[in-house]
Amino acid sequence: MDLKYWLGRAVDEIGAWAADHDGFSPHASASVTDHEMADGFGELVRRLSSSYPFFHPRYAGQMLKPPHPAAVAGYVAAMLINPNNRALDGGAATSALEEEAVAAIASMFGMPRHLGHLTGGGTVANLEALFVARETHPGKGIAYSREGHYTHARMCHLLGMRGYPIEVDSLGRMDPEALERQLAQGTVGTVVATVGTTGLGAVDPVHTILAAARARDVRVHVDAAYGGFHVLLDQEDADLLPDPRPWRAIAHCDSVVVDPHKHGLQPYGCGAVLFGDPGVGRFYRHDSPCASYASYPTDRPHLGEISLECSRSGAAAAALWLTQKLLPLTSGGLGQVLAAGRRAALRWAALIEESSVLDLYQPPDLDIVTYFPRTDPLLLSEVEAASRTVMRRGMSDRADPVYLSTARIDARSFAARWPGAVTDLGHTRILRSVLMKPESELHLDQLHSLVERLATTARHAG
Ligand SMILES: *Cc1c(COP(=O)(O)O)cnc(C)c1O
Repeated sequence: MDLKYWLGRAVDEIGAWAADHDGFSPHASASVTDHEMADGFGELVRRLSSSYPFFHPRYAGQMLKPPHPAAVAGYVAAMLINPNNRALDGGAATSALEEEAVAAIASMFGMPRHLGHLTGGGTVANLEALFVARETHPGKGIAYSREGHYTHARMCHLLGMRGYPIEVDSLGRMDPEALERQLAQGTVGTVVATVGTTGLGAVDPVHTILAAARARDVRVHVDAAYGGFHVLLDQEDADLLPDPRPWRAIAHCDSVVVDPHKHGLQPYGCGAVLFGDPGVGRFYRHDSPCASYASYPTDRPHLGEISLECSRSGAAAAALWLTQKLLPLTSGGLGQVLAAGRRAALRWAALIEESSVLDLYQPPDLDIVTYFPRTDPLLLSEVEAASRTVMRRGMSDRADPVYLSTARIDARSFAARWPGAVTDLGHTRILRSVLMKPESELHLDQLHSLVERLATTARHAG
């Protein structure tokens, strides 16, 4: 698709709609000439050019990539009106789009019923899930994987709840036995299972966690901010998921968070939280002093009545809805995009295992590959120094750049994968590449040889 054309169409179509409402001239106080704009815009574009090229397969670092052009066009079209999905009088059309987009996410997980909405991101979405957890299980704490997102500990603090980090196995997945020991204490009201840890992309055994929790009337929230959309890879014929059972269990959990601004092709500002029991809406009840809800009487709840955030972008809902229309939440739609990244990760892991200068930290559950330059002996200090050197040199090579990121790993976790390691430091750094762009699949050999070359020279440099 031609983004320039569709951006122009957005301006034309919304302009034509506006012209239907009598002519008027914008107030002089905010008027800007094209000449003035040229200066400011020129400086903006210049400053933006210092960004890393997230769109390019040579960027194999953090969880970053541009949104789909359809999302951009949908966002701009709606943003020209700027609806607010807090209430139906501020965004009736985009509230309906949000409900449809969220319903599509619910059916992607196979949830029989749901109550959900979009949020500014995964952080607020998780906060809402833990807030509801506190209301349904007052006085009880939250258990989460030691390698889960730091937001859970933070939000426990914010909500005045006790957090219980649970030990992980040697692949960074929550250890069900350690969880069982914690649950036996009777202090946990909710377990957070993570589907795709932000560091390693490790997937907790949601199905096992769910069974343990149900036996004790404990709630289960799934933080699938990163790996939720990978449920689309669950197919009979394709062997792309390490084990589909964690994703299949999501439908039976109490709540789930997924970030369309990570794997849903959206610009930032788009998370989602869904609850299995629509009755939890009662915990959000409030009286808005500027009760605009009253100015739009309806049987439908205003989205602001079932979310903690007040003003929210209607344009984000429009962008997500349009993207889903074009790349539906099916294995043949968005699933194809995720499959390419997953294949890239599997292939790169295989290449690294064959390499004489790189070692694979652990096999990837999703599309996040973790690795480090081989050192002999295997000293954590050497691993850290070599990883940093590879990343720094890759990023500063003007002719042949490659953009990687590093992950901090504590000595205990490292030794669980590499028992021969000499833990001369309490932690180390390894290389981490999030292959979330489908294009990574097509440039993998180039990426691998660039990283191998950097690892070779890093060894000699020390
Ligand atoms: C990204 C992420 C979060 C935080 O979400 P934001 O969208 O960055 O606010 C929480 N949990 C997991 C597993 C994540 O990957």
